Amino acid sequence: MLGGSRGIGAAIVRRFATEGARVTFTYAGSREAAEKLAAETGTVAEKTDSADRDAVIARVRESGPLDVLVVNAGVGAFGDPLEQDPDEVDRLVRINVTSPYHAAVEAARRMPEGGRIIVIGSVNGDRIPFPGLSAYAMSKSALQGMARGLARDFGPRGITVNVVQPGPIDTDMNPADGPMKDVMHAVMALKRHGRPEDVAGMVAWLAGPEASFVTGAMHTIDGGFGA
Ligand code: NDP
Repeated sequence: MLGGSRGIGAAIVRRFATEGARVTFTYAGSREAAEKLAAETGTVAEKTDSADRDAVIARVRESGPLDVLVVNAGVGAFGDPLEQDPDEVDRLVRINVTSPYHAAVEAARRMPEGGRIIVIGSVNGDRIPFPGLSAYAMSKSALQGMARGLARDFGPRGITVNVVQPGPIDTDMNPADGPMKDVMHAVMALKRHGRPEDVAGMVAWLAGPEASFVTGAMHTIDGGFGA
């Protein structure tokens, strides 16, 4: 799993560990949180920066037998595109798009029949109700095309590829008591943030036996943000 030290990723690590899976997850900046989570859950934490494509490919290659790949690592770069640092936008694309693509391809090389590739996108891949989200939304929309295409490429081998698209979820990236909460809740059917565990539940379902016929699809969990 790419990006498991905090937030939604940490909830996914906990969920898979609870279900008895052998989990290896990456982190970049949050070593302390990653090591604590690994010790608590009996999982393995490995430092790998998702901005570094080759490091990500090597990590997937060296991760041993692989039944499920979850790509959760992602960053935001919010603001006026006329003012944004182009290097920041390019870094976002490397983390949110380039590495997920190459990780998915490398994982598929190693997966047996029945393998699962699950990528965390965003409802912003479908809907962008506010300014300042262009680069982030671009990256999350790219994951939709990636999943549809790779589902076709790997379908003959019984490997499924899906995107989970959260709306506002209470994490460091988007705190439930943050300055944007009222603006976001105003466009939602349920006027609150979701919990990381809600997203982990959907990921677990996609990784489980009931989802073996689900592929090339977007699975939105957003409190009606996109409704
Ligand atoms: P957080 O910022 O709370 O956590 C991000 C996680 O990704 C951390 O574990 C972080 O690890 C990891 N990560 C970030 N950059 C890198 C990197 N370069 N290399 C490796 N790992 C990295 O975010 P969330 O939990 O909120 O978001 C998780 C995913 O869900 C993202 O893809 C995000 O776009 C998506 N999402 C979130 C929503 C929300 O409202 N929270 C809504 C829709 C989508 P570390 O700290 O160790 O660097």
